[in-house]
Amino acid sequence: MHHFNMIIDGTPVSSARLIEVANPATGRPFATVAGGDPDHVDQAVAAARRAFPAWSGTPDAERRRLVNALADVLEAHMAELMELVTQETGKPLGGLNQVGSGMEVGGAIAWTRVTAGLDIPVDVLQDNDDARIEVHRKPLGVVGSITPWNWPLMICVWHIMPALRAGNTVVLKPASLTPVATLRFVELAGAVLPKGVLNVITGDADVGAAMSGHPGIAKMVFTGSTPTGRHIMRSAAANLKRLTLELGGNDAGIVLPDVDPVQVAPKLFGVAFHNNGQTCACLKRLYVHDSQYDALCAELARLAGEVRVGNGLDAATQLGPVQNPAQRNFVHALVEDARAKGARVLSGGHFIDGDGYFYAPTVIADARPGMRVVDEEQFGPVLPVIRYTDVEDALAQANASDNGLGGSVWSADIGAATALARRLECGSAWVNEHGAIQPDAPFGGVKQSGIGVEFGAYGLEEYLSLQTVKVMKR
Ligand code: NAD
Repeated sequence: MHHFNMIIDGTPVSSARLIEVANPATGRPFATVAGGDPDHVDQAVAAARRAFPAWSGTPDAERRRLVNALADVLEAHMAELMELVTQETGKPLGGLNQVGSGMEVGGAIAWTRVTAGLDIPVDVLQDNDDARIEVHRKPLGVVGSITPWNWPLMICVWHIMPALRAGNTVVLKPASLTPVATLRFVELAGAVLPKGVLNVITGDADVGAAMSGHPGIAKMVFTGSTPTGRHIMRSAAANLKRLTLELGGNDAGIVLPDVDPVQVAPKLFGVAFHNNGQTCACLKRLYVHDSQYDALCAELARLAGEVRVGNGLDAATQLGPVQNPAQRNFVHALVEDARAKGARVLSGGHFIDGDGYFYAPTVIADARPGMRVVDEEQFGPVLPVIRYTDVEDALAQANASDNGLGGSVWSADIGAATALARRLECGSAWVNEHGAIQPDAPFGGVKQSGIGVEFGAYGLEEYLSLQTVKVMKR
């Protein structure tokens, strides 16, 4: 079995306590990692603080070159990292619509290169006989990053690359269910970065809480559930840490009556079910007009019955297992609740027998508010379809959520669809697409889906503080 260590101050750190990491396709451990504790947080923060003056003082062009060199490292080890991601998350190497480990590592490379290419400008607000006023952007110090289990490598890249590009040093903690690809990547990054600039520790909520309350950390960037985001926000208050919180979503999609149900179904199926629905911005509630409701439900159920579910290492697999048993139980409880309240389960709705945490892709008709699968983020291979007759009512239902990550409208009438999409209460709105993120467009949630944005120049700003410099001329 492979073993992976934490990396603190450029040095591998082992521990008496081992965390076993299971492959969700088999339910059996495939790797062990050193288990961290709050003492390791202190050590990692101290190392990152020691590294900060030199790293933040490194010329911008050199930091840009080193971030690009991290993309080279990811590229050189792509096959190895893909296999590790598939083993720890269960997601296929290729997968439904090619949204698998190949996209995870490929996305990590693309995001790293775009971030390396970003400028950190100095704005000149005034330059006259009285004074010159410049606005400079300065790094914050040590950034603490905590990541979830669904896209572990890509999300760690989303956090650490802008942090490093901006001149901050980093302490990173992956989810204990999926720490392996992250630990391996940080080990490889040691060939590029000065020691202490990027540190990685492991552990659960106690280690995460020690980070978010740590006085030596200037900013936390967190991707995960809304309840954990609230914990982090509370403990970050102690030293007024800057925060970027990317939290849960319960994204709605509204299908307008002019859409051909057979034509649109594969696209809708893909954006709801890729990675088994375990993506923050998957489509999680589908609102369909009465006139196409039965036809579209039938088509989605047919696709759910045909999709190939299996071990992600098999090339033919389109959907892997659910990542962990607790999540599979949660998803099933939501389906049972809907069934008990009168919904029709058109496909799936049950565990798949055998090893691993497989769940049959599930389409639920006659879903309505008051059912947990509509009101809560299911984060699994389940899509509730809700019937509407009045589009204003569909919009009101879509917006009647504490979440506001993404949303979409589907129609042949681009103008009408765009106007409706702009009325969705969410950070990203798509027309005839869903969850289509890219490294130069800001991504983040409104309401309880988060605070701040990631990606591109907008995201980079969150790792910098502004300093106004006014030089008098008389
Ligand atoms: P989670 O909140 O349970 O855990 C995420 C991370 O937080 C883990 O590393 C965990 O160890 C750590 N943690 C747990 N308790 C903590 C505490 N008290 N203090 C500090 N850290 C703590 O989330 P999860 O189940 O791993 O991920 C699924 C959730 O993440 C879903 O809600 C999903 O929508 C969300 N998500 C959001 C985005 C986005 O960009 N908005 C992206 C991916 C996932």
